[in-house]
Amino acid sequence: MNPKIIIHGGFFSESNTNQEVKIAKQKALVDIVTKGAAYLNNHTALESVVYTVSLLEDCALFNAGLGSQIQSDGKIRMSASLMDGVTEKFSGVINIKDVKNPIQVAVKLMSVDDKVLSGSGALDFARQNGFHYYNPETPQRRGEYEKKLNDSIRLGTVGAVALDRDGKLAVATSTGGKGFEIPCRVSDSATVAGNYANNSAAISCTGVGEDIVSGALAAKIVTRVTDGFSLENAIGKSFEELKHFDGFAGVIGISAKGEMFHFDSHPHMVWASFDEEVSVFV
Ligand code: ASP
Repeated sequence: MNPKIIIHGGFFSESNTNQEVKIAKQKALVDIVTKGAAYLNNHTALESVVYTVSLLEDCALFNAGLGSQIQSDGKIRMSASLMDGVTEKFSGVINIKDVKNPIQVAVKLMSVDDKVLSGSGALDFARQNGFHYYNPETPQRRGEYEKKLNDSIRLGTVGAVALDRDGKLAVATSTGGKGFEIPCRVSDSATVAGNYANNSAAISCTGVGEDIVSGALAAKIVTRVTDGFSLENAIGKSFEELKHFDGFAGVIGISAKGEMFHFDSHPHMVWASFDEEVSVFV
């Protein structure tokens, strides 16, 4: 099996207007997907999506980890989740504050019974497991917050889906949320609507979390592939169903057969992939 990886950096309105940001994002996505693909050469899909999403969280251009959006009370709360297509175990953190890599906390949660933690419980767990204080705020995000820029297409969640040499699938997704949301609003990114995998397919979503949850998007697409749909048809049918409520979403996915596909309902999700060579769209 040829290893494959696809990543997304959410929707990004600045890309349409700001050439400098567009070039920076393009460079970052190419760099990260190239590193992710090299890592996938001698690591499992699960290890590789964690590695790649950690790099995306560390890049201030994206709305996850460093550079996360600020909620309406001025605080950053992040969400991230991980799903192993082999064991079908899902772990995640919801609205965690003051850590560098929320996806790494999700990794720790894979090995305990209680796999999804929120708020102060998630933070206590992180501290007990050696995650030190880290402020993910950037001047850019503070500036946006202070100008009360509440633009629903400034969405920038990150995600990675990988298929390794042994045909194993995994997915990881991480977000700073929509920005200006009511404090503690729950994003789709640490739910099975936003991040889902089994041994047939793996899907990561971005977009308006409420729409993604209403459409049960990632779990629905993976279920359709499991039941015999091609990845493209599973995504197509599931996006048809979002049209009833003008759902705003983008997805990346890989199937166990090696199909790799991305799709969005509105312009434009930014993504990059590696399948023998790098492709990128910003
Ligand atoms: N899906 C994320 C959320 O609603 C936002 C995004 O994708 O940028 O929290």
